[in-house]
Amino acid sequence: MGGCVALIVAAGRGMRFGGDGPKQYQTLGGAPLLRRAMKAFVHHPGVSAVQAVIHPDDAMLYAEAIADLSWIKLLPAVHGGATRQQSVRNGLEALAGKPPDLVLIHDGARPMVSASLIGAVIEALREAEGALPCLPVVDTLKRLDGGKVGATVPRESLARAQTPQGFRYPAILAAHRKADGVDFTDDAAVLEAAGGTVLSVPGDETNIKVTTMEDLRRLEGALMETRTGTGFDVHKFGPGDGVWLCGLKIPHSQGLEGHSDADVALHAATDAILGAIGDGDIGAHFPPTDPQWRGVSSDRFLRHAYDLLRARGGALTHLDITIICERPKVGPHRAAMVARVAEIMSVETHRVSVKATTTEGLGFTGRREGIAAQAVATVKLSA
Ligand code: MG
Repeated sequence: MGGCVALIVAAGRGMRFGGDGPKQYQTLGGAPLLRRAMKAFVHHPGVSAVQAVIHPDDAMLYAEAIADLSWIKLLPAVHGGATRQQSVRNGLEALAGKPPDLVLIHDGARPMVSASLIGAVIEALREAEGALPCLPVVDTLKRLDGGKVGATVPRESLARAQTPQGFRYPAILAAHRKADGVDFTDDAAVLEAAGGTVLSVPGDETNIKVTTMEDLRRLEGALMETRTGTGFDVHKFGPGDGVWLCGLKIPHSQGLEGHSDADVALHAATDAILGAIGDGDIGAHFPPTDPQWRGVSSDRFLRHAYDLLRARGGALTHLDITIICERPKVGPHRAAMVARVAEIMSVETHRVSVKATTTEGLGFTGRREGIAAQAVATVKLSA
């Protein structure tokens, strides 16, 4: 085969994690950790193929994790063994038929591995049989004797090892075969024990190994970015005894015409959220030609957009709605509108704002032909 194969080790049970199911299948920003880790290698120009090592019980989880992506570089997953070392060995042996030149061994629970770190490890393999991303130790290290603090350990020559650990394939395969039955903490140690040379390359602080639920939450926060979306809508007046605005029926000498309840404010709000998540518009989700939406309450539309945001792992930071009309007067209903919009989405009221303005008698709203509304949604969404 030649080239460089990334071996993603994901056969562990993650006993320290405490979530439901193995941690490598927990989602981060809507995508399993393993999928994120694999994607980084699949998309890297220096990597020719990616092979996962999974637990036999996780076949379904693995299939879901890699579904709907074009994995042209993906080799069939192989099953791991009783220990991480055995799992790596199984992965290496599976490649022996068509041996690659290089192999990068990476933890499936390190979802943030960057393209530049992958590139640096590959580059270092020109010089040595092994390459290891290392981070400096910044905290003072102490030796503990029971509850008593003992000697300070000099940290200058110490480093924290990460993955991907890169190797020339024949060297690491031979080292693993030689290590048979002897346990090492990582693959660099396996190669060192066999007499190979491992170079250090600068590691990356963001390339953390997710070990606890706390790690996962911290990463979720770090991944979030702020996005905004805008919405605009107009409905014209027609016969009626009130208008629906922000999910409330406001008494008025006219109604608003529309396919649904014509709640112009909720339509603008729905489009603002759909805009923030880049998922089309209200007409695409609820076609006005579809009879099932005739006369329905527009709170369903807003709730649907909000649920789509949540399904992507996102959260609403703020929704600001402006209603543009001469009549009815919005002011007396403003607080109730804020409360209703917040209730529709099950968010705190301080995340919703409803404002109103006239157009000083100008234009179609000034002529009292209809009501316009605009909205801006600010959301947090995983990058
Ligand atoms: Mg509308």
